[in-house]
Formats: sequence, structure tokens, C-alpha cells
Amino acid sequence: MIKRPKLSRTGNVRKTNPQGLTRGEKFRVKTSRGRKISSVRWLQRQLNDPYVDAARRDGYRARSAYKLLELDEKFSFLQHVKSVIDLGAAPGGWSQVVLKKTSRYARIIGIDLLPIEPLEGATFLQMDFTSKEAEDKMLELLDGPVDLVMSDMAAATTGHQQTDHTRTLALVEIAFDFAKKTLAEGGIFIAKVFRGGADQDMLAEMKKCFKTVRHYKPPSSRAESAETFLIAQGFKKEI
Ligand code: SAM
Repeated sequence: MIKRPKLSRTGNVRKTNPQGLTRGEKFRVKTSRGRKISSVRWLQRQLNDPYVDAARRDGYRARSAYKLLELDEKFSFLQHVKSVIDLGAAPGGWSQVVLKKTSRYARIIGIDLLPIEPLEGATFLQMDFTSKEAEDKMLELLDGPVDLVMSDMAAATTGHQQTDHTRTLALVEIAFDFAKKTLAEGGIFIAKVFRGGADQDMLAEMKKCFKTVRHYKPPSSRAESAETFLIAQGFKKEI
């Protein structure tokens, strides 16, 4: 069982106390000149987010670690994985979860545009996953089929919902292609997608390639975030 922090399911409780704090809030950040409203909101959310506290307490580099923990709690896939690809791995929270859940047995190849502090058991590349060089390098590092390809990649947001959705879907498509090339029989593919899920053609193709394909939004994924996750299990290599 995950030691889940206590919070309202939506995190959107609006009642305020005399100090102007909404229920569950410990801090309120004042808007000051030169600070953008969006960064004030971000800071306030971070300061009041129980998953941020929990990550600090449990030694995870990012609150996103709880999303993978909750996906695993629901679909139980981490225990037996030996070889894992972590796409969009920075700062390393998902890799930490894989290492912990496999008692440091798994070997991970992770990639991100950003640098990542080393983790024993993981090889991290700082490259653009969509480039040909990145794919070649990852294939070169692999020494056999992979049990799990997981992608938490998200394109930098533009503020325009449709553009962000389309860009992230393009990343999922490339990740899915990579998964088809590298997964072992029975392997698993996980990817972050936005509300509305995967594109219909891609979903149809996934359903042919895997025994089960499901969408799931873990409790730690913020209610106001459009993200959700695709979990495809039981890869059929011969299709
Ligand atoms: N799962 C990570 C963890 O738990 O620490 C958090 C991942 S973060 C939500 C998404 C990451 O995707 C960002 O670090 C971003 O740099 C990365 N990303 C986005 N586009 C990418 C690309 N084309 N190639 C590699 N990484 C990419």
C-alpha cells in the first residue's frame, strides 16, 4: 500500500478561513510586483501540495513518483520487470520507483532533454528522444528485449490546449513506435496522454499489439490537469 497523503480528491476546496487560506492550505503567497500570477499560483500549489511533502519525506525527486506508484498499485506490473526504458525521465522520480519496487534489480535506460542526477542501476542520456541519434543510441545501449517502456514525456506547454494536446500525442506516437521495436513478448507500455486519450487510429493499433489497453488517471494526478495515462499490457511480438 502506498502511504498516500491526505487531501481532498479534487484539491479544489474553495472555503477560506479568516486568514484567507482554503481548507488544506498551509501557505498563501502574496502577489508582488514582478511576479506573474501563474508563477504565484504554481508556488502556492507547490507549498500546499501534500504529494510534494510526501516526496520530500520518502526521498523521491518528484511528486510524479506517486503517479507511477499508483499506476502500479492498480495494474501491478513493476514487480517482475528487469529491463526498463524511461522516456522523459528527469528528474528521475519514476526511475527511483522502478528501482525501489524491483529491489534495485531492474536496469533502466532513461532519456530527457534535461540533465539528470545519476542513479545506480540507471543510464541516463541527455538528448531529444524524437531525434534519430537518440533512438540509435538507445538501441545501441540495449542488450536484449525490454519489459517496460514508460513515457511521462510532455511537450513544453504553449497555453493553447489543442496545440499542447497534439504535441504530446506526437511524443506518444514516437514512444509507441519505439516500444513496438524493443518490447519483449508480454511487455508493457505506459504513456502520459491528455484528456480525450490517445488518437483513435493509434488506440486501434495498440489494441492489436497488446492484450489489454486502458486509460487511468491516478489520484495524485491533479484534477485540474488534463493528463491521464495509457496502460497497455501483454505485448504480442508477432503482430
Ligand atoms: N517522470 C519524471 C519523474 O518522475 O521524475 C517526470 C517527467 S516530466 C513530467 C516530463 C519530462 O519530459 C520533462 O523533464 C521534459 O524535459 C521531458 N521531455 C519532453 N519532451 C522530450 C523529448 N523530446 N525528449 C526527451 N525528453 C522530453
